[in-house]
Amino acid sequence: MKIQLLGTGSADGWPNPFCTCASCGWARASGVFRGQTSALVDDRLLIDCGPEVPSAATRHGAELSGVRTLLITHAHPDHLGPAALLFRHWAGRREGLDVYAPQVVLDQLRDWIGPDDPVRLHPVAASDVLQCDGYTVRVLAATHGDATIGEAVLFDVAAADGARLLYATDTGPLSDDTVEAVTDAAFDVVLIEETFGDFTEHGTQHLDLSTFPDQLRRLREVGAINDASDVVAVHLSHHNPVSLGRRLAPWGARVVPDGTVLRTGPSATGERLTSPHRTLVIGGARSGKSRYAESRLAAAERVTYIATAPPRPGDTEWDARVAEHRSRRPAHWTTVETGDITAALLDAHRGETLLIDCLTLWLTQVMDDAGAWDGDVTLVDKQINQLVDAWKVTQAQVVAVSNEVGQGVVPATASGRLFRDTQGRLNAALAQVSDDVVLMVAGRPVLI
Ligand SMILES: [Zn+2]
Ligand SMILES: [Zn+2]
Repeated sequence: MKIQLLGTGSADGWPNPFCTCASCGWARASGVFRGQTSALVDDRLLIDCGPEVPSAATRHGAELSGVRTLLITHAHPDHLGPAALLFRHWAGRREGLDVYAPQVVLDQLRDWIGPDDPVRLHPVAASDVLQCDGYTVRVLAATHGDATIGEAVLFDVAAADGARLLYATDTGPLSDDTVEAVTDAAFDVVLIEETFGDFTEHGTQHLDLSTFPDQLRRLREVGAINDASDVVAVHLSHHNPVSLGRRLAPWGARVVPDGTVLRTGPSATGERLTSPHRTLVIGGARSGKSRYAESRLAAAERVTYIATAPPRPGDTEWDARVAEHRSRRPAHWTTVETGDITAALLDAHRGETLLIDCLTLWLTQVMDDAGAWDGDVTLVDKQINQLVDAWKVTQAQVVAVSNEVGQGVVPATASGRLFRDTQGRLNAALAQVSDDVVLMVAGRPVLI
């Protein structure tokens, strides 16, 4: 299957032409323009056709003369540009065109079809299975749509050779029915919306960087996405960060420029899911380290959370903090309480996912155990070296959280200064052999 993305943007595109925010400014300066989302399959089947799409096809070197099937998800105007049918009429196309869409969409198209145009309209609803020009198309319910636009749907398109595409925009978090309907689909390509980036208070039926990874996890859980699936985020708006690609990579998803042609077959994305990968997240107190580290792994099916904090009997403030962290962790994560993170790293199998939170508590415990507070850190350094060696060779995908303690005032006590220096050495040694190092500042990740 050949899938050309005629657009990967939201209704207004990215950049939004009227906006001067940092994200739009960056997009303009770097020449990355994203128009209304649409996909052209094998030059024959077009999914969604907003008003920009026909000319976008031209700009991206495609032409639409071969299109025999048009699938439209819903009646929002960025997905439905009825004038395309008039343009087709002007070109004198005499081949048949079958349009499949919810009834509200068809009602808007009708006025744009000439009396002799060979265009046939077919109303669809969720759970329909269609045979279209050699493709089997399953219609899925979108979490989108309201009284004004009626029903919204998503499409699961399978070619005769078994290649399979999921087209999932626009939608909020998927319904259980939709996830169940794609059980074992093993999609080759998944185009899934991620409209709002770090803006999570939008209150609309769309996905953002907090809800997006969980949909991937749910789709993986039912075998709809596997390690060979190419997962591409679409319907991207200017609410997204400029570092979107880096943000999606740990979840096994990516972004591509408008006009990109995807072909089914093994993809590089799947490899990244299981290869060992080390991410060190450092930051000050309350900088958002743990929250960010958790979000890095939000798309993983199984995560082992390694809690390094020994219990502190009688410390209610501490208990409350631990409880807050615990309540945030998804139910399907496993928690292991251990001080021996070196062993955990060495014992992990390929494909396992670990979250270590945090190295500062671990170091405190190591210094306690070694009686190092008076200044002799020989035993501590030995343990740090062992940890760094394990970090280097681990087979796991691992994210570890550590404190950046060297930026405040000079600690008043000798033991405080000793700890600051030792923590700094530990962070630097791990960063040296990490795939990614992220510095958290005021809740925002800075990729170093
Ligand atoms: Zn839209
Ligand atoms: Zn919409």
